[in-house]
Amino acid sequence: MSILVLKRNSTFVQTGIIPANTEILNNPIEYLKGVGPQRADLLKKELNIFTFNDLLNHFPFRHIDKTKVNFIREIDPSTDYIQVAGSLHNIDIVGIKSGRRMVATLRDKTGILELAWFQGINWIQKILQTGQQYLVFGKVSFFQGRPQIVHPEMELLTNEKKDGKSFLEPIYPTTEKLRSKALGGRQIGKLTETLIKLITEKNVPENLPDDILNKLKLVNRFKAFTQIHFPANLEEYDDAVKRLKFEELFIAQIRMARLRSQRHRFSKGVVFEKVGDLFNTFYTKHLPFELTGAQKRVIKEIRKDTATGKQMNRLLQGDVGSGKTIVALLTMLIAADNGYQSCLMAPTEVLAQQHYNNLTVLLKDMPVEVGLLTGSTKSASRKSIQQKLDDGSIHILIGTHAVIEKVVQFKNLGIGIVDEQHKFGVAQRAMLWEKNQTPPHILVMTATPIPRTLAMTAYGDLDYSVIDEMPPGRQPITTVHRFEKDRSKVMGFIKDEIAKGRQIYIIFPLIEESDKMDYENLMKGYENVKAWFPEPKYWISMVHGRQKADQKKNNMQRFVTGDTHIMVSTTVIEVGVDVPNASVMVIESAEKFGLSQLHQLRGRVGRGSDKSYCILLTGQNIGNDARERMKIMTSTNNGFIIAEKDLDMRGPGDIEGTRQSGVLNFKLASIVQDRPILEVARRFAEDIIETDPELSSAEDLRIKSYLQAIQGKTAWSRIS
Ligand code: ADP
Ligand code: MG
Repeated sequence: MSILVLKRNSTFVQTGIIPANTEILNNPIEYLKGVGPQRADLLKKELNIFTFNDLLNHFPFRHIDKTKVNFIREIDPSTDYIQVAGSLHNIDIVGIKSGRRMVATLRDKTGILELAWFQGINWIQKILQTGQQYLVFGKVSFFQGRPQIVHPEMELLTNEKKDGKSFLEPIYPTTEKLRSKALGGRQIGKLTETLIKLITEKNVPENLPDDILNKLKLVNRFKAFTQIHFPANLEEYDDAVKRLKFEELFIAQIRMARLRSQRHRFSKGVVFEKVGDLFNTFYTKHLPFELTGAQKRVIKEIRKDTATGKQMNRLLQGDVGSGKTIVALLTMLIAADNGYQSCLMAPTEVLAQQHYNNLTVLLKDMPVEVGLLTGSTKSASRKSIQQKLDDGSIHILIGTHAVIEKVVQFKNLGIGIVDEQHKFGVAQRAMLWEKNQTPPHILVMTATPIPRTLAMTAYGDLDYSVIDEMPPGRQPITTVHRFEKDRSKVMGFIKDEIAKGRQIYIIFPLIEESDKMDYENLMKGYENVKAWFPEPKYWISMVHGRQKADQKKNNMQRFVTGDTHIMVSTTVIEVGVDVPNASVMVIESAEKFGLSQLHQLRGRVGRGSDKSYCILLTGQNIGNDARERMKIMTSTNNGFIIAEKDLDMRGPGDIEGTRQSGVLNFKLASIVQDRPILEVARRFAEDIIETDPELSSAEDLRIKSYLQAIQGKTAWSRIS
């Protein structure tokens, strides 16, 4: 016999599973027999259970199997919980003080089991009767070599119970407070039992098309709700969970697909009618390399989108170094060809500055004017930039958050490109829409390699492009894990590389800019590096978040131009920085970084044709998780594999950029463990919306009315 413990996301928001069209289920919880006003108050406060329906959606986290009655002889040291039946004998009180207890023996035709009670003895003594037949359930322990159950559950054995219960007994999540008011995990079960008896299939109508139910062999909705609470056996429970998980994921996907389809059908966008001289001249005369197949494909996708008259909202994903910047530039040239302005937003000043430098070099022989606007732009040049934005003489504006501030106005913004999306929120994306009468196209570029399904779930309202091919001639980066004791060897290696003309990054963790200890560590680290690499043989730049923008820019620039050999930095260079001659990345206290971040940092090297290295330095004693991360980093360069591992190790809540989206919070389903169900749900949802976007066909009507019923009806809207 066993206890079934079900793993479930520890924090979940109540969304999704709410049956439609169900009067009885809308009853306030105090109307349920056995609840009453006082307990109702507690249920509301402690568990957000306001209605019958909320109770129905309060799922057990485990079940106890009392469907079988075992023989006492079957008990052995591996037995956990067990249910047996027999006659009670030898009730006695033994011991004194804290050792005082009541004991008894239970006898069936195969053996004898000891029972013991340490608390409530007087009360229990009154109830139990020698010679009576009892059904006994509890956790087996061994005392002086003999099996016993302490504080067993005792029920008089009746005929109907003699073969055990007909379903698994549910145990519910509860709180200390509720438990103290006789609403423990098991008592809540009594309430659900009452509730389930009150409702029928009419109250929990089906919301999935029959076609899907049949194809996927899913149990119907009413059955699923009954069986998740009171399954006859494990299979029934699994069936119920599978169906409800599918429903959650499917409904979420339907909503996403609908948003996307409505945007496609109704949104009005700026039309880029042609590909003109600017694009063509640049492409044939100034493009410094041949585009990869993936880059070409993505440009075609963008080209197609922007020519339709619909507003483009596209997510472009490409691993670090895959060459997203040039795609952005070519896109902005198409805009300029059609008389539209564009802006490119970067998450940091360093990165904005770098984009500005690169693009001005690439465009130096082209009649295209590029502007730079960041938080540290002086007010005089701010004025002149604004002037040129107004009269349309700036074609491309590059900047940080500063460009989306209300005061910045364009003559005719045609497209906004957001680089490294995870540093921007959805709200900021929306602010871009307001920069033009007809909302500009939006291209969001990210290097955080989110697995495709997850991307489709988290950003399902966006269209999706991926650069899944690296520019040719790249040598794979060799990654190694070294301990503190190897430091002098590592420094020796760096000296050799510098002697070959290479440049080096040394990264220190600075998780919060305000973290004093990290900051002091960085300074100590810097002194340490200086001691290993003394001037004037070696020159070092340092960049961190506490520096003024000018200072950052100068230090960065000295490294970019090859003036300095080593860049000591915090993670401010985590994204985007491109110095092809830098071929070694040393990450100090690497155990403090997450997988995705390590991968991003590593992506700073391996951009030129030289052999590149990433050295992960850690202390001797690091935890198992950190060890695992180091192992993954040294075994693969593939960002998508790393993203999957990251997802497995940390769960979706931590994936950068998805946090705000909320869509990843499901009640039963886990985006990680239930990926296969998610895939299927997405396929079905997309098919349906493609063929029947309004959900008006007879088969899809169920979905439609369900969506209408849950409109705005989440637990949150009730709380706030
Ligand atoms: P990311 O996708 O990380 O933003 P970048 O756009 O910074 O990558 O490109 C990384 C490097 O690869 C840059 O030095 C860029 O000039 C170079 N690059 C981009 N595309 C190609 C290509 N098709 N062939 C060769 N080099 C390329
Ligand atoms: Mg980039």
